Amino acid sequence: MIDYYNDMPSGINVIDKMNEELDDLQKKYDELEKKYDRLKNPNLKILFNSIEEFNQKQEEMYGAIQNTCDFDDSQYRSMKHYGITPGQWVDLTSTIQSELNKITNDKHFSYINAYEIMAPINSIFRGRESPHWAKIYDSLTKDELKDIFFDNIKNYIEENTRYKYAIFKCHQCGKIDDYVNDENKCNACYDPESDEDSVE
Ligand SMILES: [Zn+2]
Repeated sequence: MIDYYNDMPSGINVIDKMNEELDDLQKKYDELEKKYDRLKNPNLKILFNSIEEFNQKQEEMYGAIQNTCDFDDSQYRSMKHYGITPGQWVDLTSTIQSELNKITNDKHFSYINAYEIMAPINSIFRGRESPHWAKIYDSLTKDELKDIFFDNIKNYIEENTRYKYAIFKCHQCGKIDDYVNDENKCNACYDPESDEDSVE
């Protein structure tokens, strides 16, 4: 193989070129493999010092999302046909993505989860394709529709997404958990019932 290439006038150059291409391919393969691992398990854990710190960051994110839900009159008119309009979808998805990234500092996680968070709204607000949409649209004001969008997004994050990135250290027993109450205590320390259970 090497002899064959060496017989050619620029044999060394060809081999160098092949090695370069192989390196490039290997790099691309490594990147894809990393991406694949993350896709399989897009969970990451951010340890918050306290529930207060967590709540504050969540509220900043919700503030930005709520502002993005504040669509204008022309978007509102388009909703009669589209349900959620393509423009609203782009705006909301990119806001959720960048806000999640501020908290997690993980672009890939934020990207995947922004899509997931928007999925319920896409399914429900399909405009003319959704049953009784005209009736729903006509009976709700712009602000009421905005409330439904925002509530849907916030609820999804609180019920699902936050457990993929937020963990806490119980201030009483030191255990790491994905939930602490308002006093920074894990379930076992907070709930006296669970002590009784463990005695049994
Ligand atoms: Zn505890």
